[in-house]
Amino acid sequence: MHCPFCGADDTKVIDSRLVAEGDSVRRRRECQTCGERFTTFETAELVMPYLIKRDGTREPFNEDKLRRGLLRALEKRPVAAEEVENAIHHIKHRLRTTGEREVPAQMVGEEVMAELKRLDAVAYVRFASVYRDFQDVSEFQEEIRRLNTESSGA
Ligand SMILES: [Zn+2]
Repeated sequence: MHCPFCGADDTKVIDSRLVAEGDSVRRRRECQTCGERFTTFETAELVMPYLIKRDGTREPFNEDKLRRGLLRALEKRPVAAEEVENAIHHIKHRLRTTGEREVPAQMVGEEVMAELKRLDAVAYVRFASVYRDFQDVSEFQEEIRRLNTESSGA
């Protein structure tokens, strides 16, 4: 982001907040060269937070990767492509509305589980078994039992 006063490249974000129901982000920036402050409005599409992985490295949010993960879990399940796209939309929206520049990658996994739980129980258990790395069959059965209890309406 160029400084509008002196044209320098290195500006620093000093405040960041969502506006208009999370569709855009208002950022206060400070030029590190001349010290002037200015405000930018950036569309939220451009400001998906970076993901902090377990080993501490960062990676950009990758929508294709998210879609592949969902589709793998939903393979041969009766869920329409449109529903998958809706789920992706929801997940992206929630990541953006954190207003954070970086979020734990784990948050994406949790959001995927929440969406799959709503869409298809089999896909949910498939994803959860890989994601949570179930240690044995009893753990897996426990999850299914819990799921059944919830869906039978408490
Ligand atoms: Zn400047």
